[in-house]
Amino acid sequence: MAFKHFVRDSWLTASYYTGLSQLYHALIGRKQGVVSYHNVLPISTLPPFDTYNVDVTAAVFDKQLTFLKKHFRVLPIQELENPQAQGLFLTVDDGMLNNYEILAPILEKHQLSALFAICPAMIDGELPHIWRDHLFLLLQQAQGQDFFLPLNQYQQPFYMTQDLRNLNNLTRELKKYIYQHQIEDIYGLVREICGKNGWGYTQVMHDPLRYQFMNWGQIRDLTKRGHRIASHTMTHRVLKFLSEEQKRYELVESKKRLEKQLNASVDILVYPYGSMAEIDDATVSAVKEAGYQTALMNVQHHSLSTPHLTLPRFAFPPIADAPHLHAIVSGYKFLFR
Ligand SMILES: [Zn+2]
Repeated sequence: MAFKHFVRDSWLTASYYTGLSQLYHALIGRKQGVVSYHNVLPISTLPPFDTYNVDVTAAVFDKQLTFLKKHFRVLPIQELENPQAQGLFLTVDDGMLNNYEILAPILEKHQLSALFAICPAMIDGELPHIWRDHLFLLLQQAQGQDFFLPLNQYQQPFYMTQDLRNLNNLTRELKKYIYQHQIEDIYGLVREICGKNGWGYTQVMHDPLRYQFMNWGQIRDLTKRGHRIASHTMTHRVLKFLSEEQKRYELVESKKRLEKQLNASVDILVYPYGSMAEIDDATVSAVKEAGYQTALMNVQHHSLSTPHLTLPRFAFPPIADAPHLHAIVSGYKFLFR
């Protein structure tokens, strides 16, 4: 495995410096694309690990933008719906405070704009955290104690040492459990876990830049500065697991609440998670019915119809290595699958 990566990385570096990957891009590479980001943080507040590759340091983010501007066209987010637009768009999911405090100022330094995907129920404080973050923070806090989880019907206690791999794996196991059981009321499950362990169902102590949400004033300010806002559903649950009624709530209510707060129409949706594990044709129909004109997934390829409601996106790993980044944007890297 390591050898295979070494060969691939050497090849990518050679392709980049000989101009081969640029040639590939010019001939058959990606001409349009949407890049997805989440959190941009100072190195001092970067979480101890990142299972989902959603956190990047401010320094790496800055370098990635410099790289993108040098090699590709990064387009104003206002052109997102233009099918003729050739270039890249930037999107930022989840609406955490770092988006306002750190990420947006770096974008603006580069004279770039982005689409920010927001969950109104989080901004309004109806839930303390997005469920995955909440589970992670609860487990982190429970290190060194016995605690109970639905993984074994709360029968045997779990115990975690300060081993980060342990914390990482257990968070992943809980996500797997939720997907296996196609749980609709994920926040009910988080509440149940809190109840079984005598933990309060409230905000867990955390780094505000990473886990606190922007407020409406900050979100409105982003739009005044040339950025755009999309719905990311009300509560960031898995749409595919929801009843029709709950799907409607997530899609229609979030649109309404954003429109009221921004005093403008909002017709772009960014699907939470955004892979085929969370979206099916019934989900896309519900999105259409809710009145969205554009919706963005988080995968490159999928088997769904209605292209404008299933636009692909891609993300970068937290690296600033130009050959590697170039291979991802141009699509060259995917030849190595
Ligand atoms: Zn999200």
